[in-house]
Amino acid sequence: MYDICIIGGGVAGCSIARELCRYQASIVVVEAKSDVCEVSKGNCAVIEADAINEDTLKSRYIILGAKTFRAYAGSLSVPFRASSLSFSEPSHEPTPARSLTSTVINPYDLVFALKENAEANGVNFLFDFEVKSFEFLDGSITVRSSSDSVQAKVVINCAGINGGKIARLLGDLTFLERKQTVTQNNNLSYVYEYVESTDGDYIVGKGKREGIYNVIALGTKGVTASHAIAMSLARSFNLPRRLDFNPVRKPIVRFKHLSIDEKNALISQNTAFGRVICRCEFVTEAEIVEAVRRGARSADGVIKRLGAGSGKCKGYYCRSEIDKIIKRELERQKEDV
Ligand SMILES: Cc1cc2nc3c(=O)[nH]c(=O)nc-3n(C[C@H](O)[C@H](O)[C@H](O)COP(=O)(O)OP(=O)(O)OC[C@H]3O[C@@H](n4cnc5c(N)ncnc54)[C@H](O)[C@@H]3O)c2cc1C
Repeated sequence: MYDICIIGGGVAGCSIARELCRYQASIVVVEAKSDVCEVSKGNCAVIEADAINEDTLKSRYIILGAKTFRAYAGSLSVPFRASSLSFSEPSHEPTPARSLTSTVINPYDLVFALKENAEANGVNFLFDFEVKSFEFLDGSITVRSSSDSVQAKVVINCAGINGGKIARLLGDLTFLERKQTVTQNNNLSYVYEYVESTDGDYIVGKGKREGIYNVIALGTKGVTASHAIAMSLARSFNLPRRLDFNPVRKPIVRFKHLSIDEKNALISQNTAFGRVICRCEFVTEAEIVEAVRRGARSADGVIKRLGAGSGKCKGYYCRSEIDKIIKRELERQKEDV
């Protein structure tokens, strides 16, 4: 039995899993899709706390998340671009100039980094595990998909737009499930679904049943707030600290960004750095092998981690080679087990 089961491998679930690694607890993340960040990818990836003044959970988490983000990204080797802007509010009254600093990231880089660091610190990730039901018995909660189950003492619902469905399965109806149709300039429209609390604030904390916690209704600044939410929730469990937690994640070597001398040094250590697989994005075989080692299970996973196959030719020249490398590496991993 696990101490904690987290439902959802988005930015919220992965941040919480990684933060809980600071404490003595066994943790599993169950994710409906075959990789993390399948939903959290769809955002503008701007980390900022602009014009938020109200005293809500939401504003506190967003402000703290934005403040701590760059140090956080640094220890996880997540690349970011910093920008800052000074401006005065448009007003008839003279107002002091404000300074808005924001940080732009690639959401894949952040969530993959969180998952890798959590995994390196002992968190178990189960994919293709769509939670369908729960069973409560003597202080343990069985979380079931259609073909698998895990048991835990505590369950944290981080299922994003499905967070409402999960909470409803648990008898919690204190939130609203919304659907909004957005029509773009070209008259194409899409339906945007989200979960909202009755007061518009984030839903972070204990659910209706013993052992259940919700982290849902994160709205439009969930990436910015996720680290602060994770820190506060993890602390609230009052678990003993671990002495062996390692917060540092090794950066991924991007061959194309190295100097000639650095490239030659790497090739002399590992000849797979000398084999360029994706010519458009200049990705080598060694980097693809490393992406598989870090969790990519398909060409899609490699594209998201390295951009390989996403260049001008859209994978025409490299896709079959990428597939072959992934297959070979996954077989090697199975043999090692
Ligand atoms: C257009 C847009 C732009 C945005 N821009 C920004 C921005 O610039 N900055 C910012 O900070 N925020 C931004 N956001 C908000 C941010 O993207 C979200 O708040 C954040 O992604 C929410 O993360 P999450 O982990 O809660 O949910 P999700 O990312 O939705 O993750 C939930 C996970 O749970 C899994 N799941 C669902 N149901 C089940 C189930 N039954 N069993 C198992 N797993 C399940 C899903 O597959 C998914 O992986 C934006 C959002 C949108 C829509």
